[in-house]
Amino acid sequence: MSAAFDPRTHLPAAGELAGRVIAITGASDGIGRAVALACARYQATVILIGRNERKLEAVHAEIGASGAPEASIAVLDLERALAADYDRVADAVLERYGRLDGLLHNAALLGTLSPIEHYDVPTWCRVLHVNVTAAFALTQVLLPALKKSADASVLFTASTVGRHGRAYWGAYAVSKFALEGLSQVLSAELEGISRVRVNTLNPGRARTAMRRQAYPAEAIETLPLPAALTGPYIALLGPASRGVSGGSFDAQPPPLAG
Ligand code: NDP
Repeated sequence: MSAAFDPRTHLPAAGELAGRVIAITGASDGIGRAVALACARYQATVILIGRNERKLEAVHAEIGASGAPEASIAVLDLERALAADYDRVADAVLERYGRLDGLLHNAALLGTLSPIEHYDVPTWCRVLHVNVTAAFALTQVLLPALKKSADASVLFTASTVGRHGRAYWGAYAVSKFALEGLSQVLSAELEGISRVRVNTLNPGRARTAMRRQAYPAEAIETLPLPAALTGPYIALLGPASRGVSGGSFDAQPPPLAG
């Protein structure tokens, strides 16, 4: 891994993602939607993955209206999907595109904020399933397509609370720690035997539904819009990060203390 690489300093060139096929989970809203639109703007062919077909169709239409390469939609509810649903997505990707150049695991559930002592067990299972197990399962079925790329990037979405433990963040924090581990293990396994690189990116605070759920009393309009944070995603999903693997990156500088 290149310690010097900082995706925050990268200025994407027009057409930087041309010819790349990039799949994004949770592309219907928030950061995933913004990254999908940005990838399309830089000329990637985007596969929009999510559970809400209507919202995905709206993103698809927005990409179509912009004149970017035509996107496609894969409806996949990461809480309920079974093995056959994952296989269906992987088969469709190989059949339609013959390879996959980028995979952003962005979809996530917050769960509840409560002490571990009182954390609701079914909520714990749902959060760990959507945030970790589904990302593992989707990566596994898509690895054959990723290995067919000349230069593929798998990117897991991290969080500040998944790098340093913080009280009451429960299953969400634990799931983000798990993704750091999954990313490192997968990166080590693929190094030297494939051209697939694997990293994590923490978007930092952003003006989304999840942030509002976590901090209902916060003045959310003071936070950056997801569209302002897409540059580091382009850097890590595109050719700028070729050869960079096993890293944990941030899209924003750390917030000031106090
Ligand atoms: P949002 O709640 O705005 O978006 C979450 C996305 O995940 C939506 O597209 C949602 O789909 C999708 N999703 C949720 N459950 C499922 C499911 N079962 N199957 C398929 N898709 C699902 O969140 P953000 O944009 O804020 O978060 C995006 C990522 O960034 C997450 O991984 C989050 O942990 C991380 N993050 C966010 C921060 C922030 O401040 N916002 C800070 C640090 C990390 P639908 O539209 O159907 O609800």
